[in-house]
Amino acid sequence: MSAGLVFDIRKFSIHDGPGIRTAVFFKGCPLHCLWCHNPEGIAPFPELLRRPERCVDCGSCRKACPLNLDPARVAGSAACRGCPDFGACAAVCPAEALQLVGRRMSAEEVMGIVLRDRPFYEESGGGVTFTGGEPLAQGEFLLECLAICRAEGIRSAVDTSGWAAEELLLEVGRASDLILYDLKVMDSERHRAATGLANELILSNLRALARQAARGASAGIYLRLPLIPGINDLPGDLEAAAEFAASLEVPLEAYLLPYHDSARGKYRLRGEAYPLGSVSAPAPERMSAAAALFEARGVPVSIGG
Ligand code: SF4
Ligand code: SF4
Repeated sequence: MSAGLVFDIRKFSIHDGPGIRTAVFFKGCPLHCLWCHNPEGIAPFPELLRRPERCVDCGSCRKACPLNLDPARVAGSAACRGCPDFGACAAVCPAEALQLVGRRMSAEEVMGIVLRDRPFYEESGGGVTFTGGEPLAQGEFLLECLAICRAEGIRSAVDTSGWAAEELLLEVGRASDLILYDLKVMDSERHRAATGLANELILSNLRALARQAARGASAGIYLRLPLIPGINDLPGDLEAAAEFAASLEVPLEAYLLPYHDSARGKYRLRGEAYPLGSVSAPAPERMSAAAALFEARGVPVSIGG
């Protein structure tokens, strides 16, 4: 049994697949999307966040720090390198001025929390969604969680960028009930500029997953396309995405997600500049026009979700 690194478990989610869901956030992602809503999910190791404005100067963290630091001022910095009890300071902070992001958990621990809400899944047609970060970056741990879902009769979804070994992606497709597959930018060089990686592997993996699904051996697929003005809505971009979706060997549903900047505060908290500056949300008419491109090619499409 392996341990995974998880940075959040959110209950009663209605945006990560059908019905009421519990979303389990895996920490670590190979991509660095400019619009990432969860920048705390990118680094594949635990991190500490400080909110100095909440500190009540109680001194608890100083007593707990094995390196005799002043955590309220330096927790999470290079001074913590070599800490034998990383996050001990945050564990005793009564004011949530220090927050540990990322906790090692076993699949049994994660699923113990997920299973508490079984009645909601049964009533709503929901289940659990593994998201992140990139769940496939912790493949063994993900497969252990999925095996418990199968054994317990809980429907599972996996939200992925598709950047993974094809063999692993196909195994995850067989072990889960739904794959939420992100399609970001169709032009590979612009995909690299916006996410840090080219898209050939992502597109070929999606074709392989669709082939497996067409044989009835794999989960259903929802294609999720964030629409980000100036990034993936240049002339021809959305047509290319719609063509690609229509060319896959299995019918799938597409979801167009309008860009929003609600994660801006998270970047501020991390002391980082918001990467997309002042990009605005796309107008409703723009979203409708984009949806029409998919409908015209026979791909069922929804806005949002
Ligand atoms: S992470 Fe460790 S060394 Fe750093 S402030 Fe917290 S307890 Fe001290
Ligand atoms: S434990 Fe929290 S509130 Fe107390 S001094 Fe440390 S950071 Fe401030």
